[in-house]
Amino acid sequence: MDIEIITVGTELLLGDTLDTNSHFLSKELKNLGFNIYKKVTVGDNTDRLYKEIKEGLEKVDMIITTGGLGPTNDDLTKETAIRVFEQEVVLHKESYDRLVDYFEGREEALEGNTKQACFPESATVLRNDHGTAPGAILEKSGKYIAVLPGPPAEMQPMYENQLKPILEEKADSIIYSESLSIGRLGEWEMAKKVQDILENYSNPTVAPYAKKEGVILKITAKAADKEQALAMIQP
Ligand code: AMP
Ligand code: MG
Repeated sequence: MDIEIITVGTELLLGDTLDTNSHFLSKELKNLGFNIYKKVTVGDNTDRLYKEIKEGLEKVDMIITTGGLGPTNDDLTKETAIRVFEQEVVLHKESYDRLVDYFEGREEALEGNTKQACFPESATVLRNDHGTAPGAILEKSGKYIAVLPGPPAEMQPMYENQLKPILEEKADSIIYSESLSIGRLGEWEMAKKVQDILENYSNPTVAPYAKKEGVILKITAKAADKEQALAMIQP
């Protein structure tokens, strides 16, 4: 399954906040064997986000976004994703009840936050145990958009406890790597010796890296499980 990650937030573009969410998700998705097709950051601008999601879905099976799920006017990720899928929203009772609890029934707070409890009927709503904005997985014609909150302390547990188990069911392989330390050869020298392997292998792939401690060859296999991956890497 090919996945695109979109992190949303003008603060990320301006360098005010370091985008750690896409790094976290890349590592996680790679371990599940998914192919990260593209990673991109978009500001809080619904037209640009719409275009990125729309064009992205022509190439990938799933887009995962983080950010822009809050109650304010510049938080538009969920609404934009729903617009791409041309779906209607309804009030999601469980999410609304959680908001009522959270704001202890205060009318003004509830009014300003109700949009966070609205989802298409077909969506899988992802509960937020550490904030007010639930996430969701939207689906249309075999394509998915998963929207997750921006704050890492909300996004990571939501991914771990709710999105990951769903993705694990869709995953049919894992990606596993072993590193070979090459010692004193330079990166270029080493690459020359194994050129045919670097160029001709697609599974496992073999890639040279120059690290502080010397050159390594990273051998990465895509397989049903770790045992099978190791058997492919070993020779
Ligand atoms: P938002 O849900 O867009 O209102 O984001 C709320 C907060 O989450 C932001 O102010 C950032 O501090 C944080 N945040 C959003 N996106 C990211 C990201 N990609 N990486 C790390 N932190 C983020
Ligand atoms: Mg934001």
